Amino acid sequence: MIKRINELKKMSLGPDIIGVAPASRFDKEDPIFKILPETRSVICLAYRVLRGTHRGIEEGTSYHHFTTMAIEVLDETVMPMMMLRCARIIEEEGYTALPQRRSQQIMQETDSTNPEMLYNKIYRGIWNEYQMDFEASAAKCGVGEIGMSGSLLTEDFGPLQRYCFVLTDAEIEPTEEFKPHICDGCGECAKACPGHAIHDGIKEPWQCAAYYAGANMSKNPFMSTHALPDREDRLEILKGEKQLTAEDARDVINNISYYPPIMHSYISSICGKACDRACYIHLEEKGVLKKRFKEKFRKREEWTLDVK
Ligand code: SF4
Ligand code: SF4
Repeated sequence: MIKRINELKKMSLGPDIIGVAPASRFDKEDPIFKILPETRSVICLAYRVLRGTHRGIEEGTSYHHFTTMAIEVLDETVMPMMMLRCARIIEEEGYTALPQRRSQQIMQETDSTNPEMLYNKIYRGIWNEYQMDFEASAAKCGVGEIGMSGSLLTEDFGPLQRYCFVLTDAEIEPTEEFKPHICDGCGECAKACPGHAIHDGIKEPWQCAAYYAGANMSKNPFMSTHALPDREDRLEILKGEKQLTAEDARDVINNISYYPPIMHSYISSICGKACDRACYIHLEEKGVLKKRFKEKFRKREEWTLDVK
């Protein structure tokens, strides 16, 4: 069966990386056993995020491509189709298969947020024991390792991929466990965040949400010089120096809007995941990524705008 599943890679818009973990790599309390108690194998289908979708924000020229092509289209269209294909192969052979994608608008916490989503479209306090830990599960499937930024890093694309899963009661030949060797703790991810939202390898969700949406004026060509007029701390916020409370973050997000939201409530990213971009640039410079390009991703010194 693994041969047929691996053939998905050759299909149009097939996954770039496929990894399989036996259920024994997961703790007995892991959500996978609540989602499908008879799970014997977990299959991870990973898709490259096109390097081109990062170029616009890198250069400060075009912004919406990143959220549409690197997030929304992959999560809402491409990956669901491929999960169905994968699950159909398994069910044709007489086993049960269940696709798993991120439930972006549901969270158990009542005081947190998901920076990729409009904060007021998230259903909080919802019993969410059925949500897999995506990063940890992908690592268990042998696809990559979790970097200091919290992102999954692979040998092919560094931090630039998105992924989904299929759970099944079939025993499928597993992929070897991944031995972490990519993240070198350089700290470039944390340094690149325009809101200083990464501390000790953890992203503070509300801080991230405000700066993902563009709160740092020096990295936001759309920001008006009259932005946030009623806030005494406006300069601190616009420079990315203020540690925001959840209430602050909501106020900032409500008052900085540049692009309409993308379909399915995805907020348009203005930071363009500078943390992942910096990581990618670092790993490319080190020459450790297997997928090589003709030209370097970063072509000139990073731009910044005046904060006033
Ligand atoms: S930027 Fe450096 S520290 Fe951060 S995840 Fe990448 S390799 Fe690790
Ligand atoms: S760079 Fe963007 S996505 Fe990354 S932590 Fe900072 S605000 Fe969040």
